[in-house]
Amino acid sequence: MTMTIEDNIASVMGRIATACERANRNLDEVTLVAVSKKKPVRDILQALDAGLTHFGENRVEESSEKIPQVTQQSSQRPTWHFIGHIQSRKAKNVVPYFDVVESIDRMKIARKLSQLAGEHDKTLSVLVEINISGESAKYGFEAFNWRKDPAIKDALWQSMRDILALPHLNVCGLMTMAPFYDNMEATRPVFAGLADLRDALQQDFEIELPDLSMGMTNDFPVAIEEGATIVRIGRAIFGERNT
Ligand SMILES: *Cc1c(COP(=O)(O)O)cnc(C)c1O
Repeated sequence: MTMTIEDNIASVMGRIATACERANRNLDEVTLVAVSKKKPVRDILQALDAGLTHFGENRVEESSEKIPQVTQQSSQRPTWHFIGHIQSRKAKNVVPYFDVVESIDRMKIARKLSQLAGEHDKTLSVLVEINISGESAKYGFEAFNWRKDPAIKDALWQSMRDILALPHLNVCGLMTMAPFYDNMEATRPVFAGLADLRDALQQDFEIELPDLSMGMTNDFPVAIEEGATIVRIGRAIFGERNT
């Protein structure tokens, strides 16, 4: 039996509900972002018809082609999340299409997006991407071992202070990607670490950082148990990507 996108969505929603029950959390605390990168507009339209309202894309060129097509072909207006690394010169094509940028991974792009949002007379909702696992291939602000390494903590706190001071960004929380492990249980310390960092930042800066975007196809149930408010799921909804 081949599974349709609609079947896949039902299955993912079921697993999200089960994880929420295990963690004693309400289902409405978790937003499912369907990651449609490398997938055609037709798949996005199917997911919209199945009731999904949040979509994630990670490439500027690809999304600036697909999003206008979705807008043209559907009466529904999903919330678009940008989840990829942004080169500065491409930032101008992010602000008009996206409601949330989850991947603020360096100061330069934070400043650029704030400036561009200002030019569009808007405030952009953003998440600060954190490299909590210390993997060298990961983007994001370095946070590995921040509780034990004052230099890491000072640099991170300074970046946070600078980002919070930018006038056209609304900082809603943190985002991370866990390393890939065969056993999803191995990702738990990464997700717990992001939640712990969020709590410390909230306390020290006396702000609310409600969102924790963590968990993908391989590991979202554990992320939900550790407090994820946004899960970013691609393959479990749309199938494997051709790379
Ligand atoms: C591709 C991607 C996802 C989704 O990954 P799946 O394994 O397909 O669920 C989530 N977050 C980011 C940042 C991604 O690039």
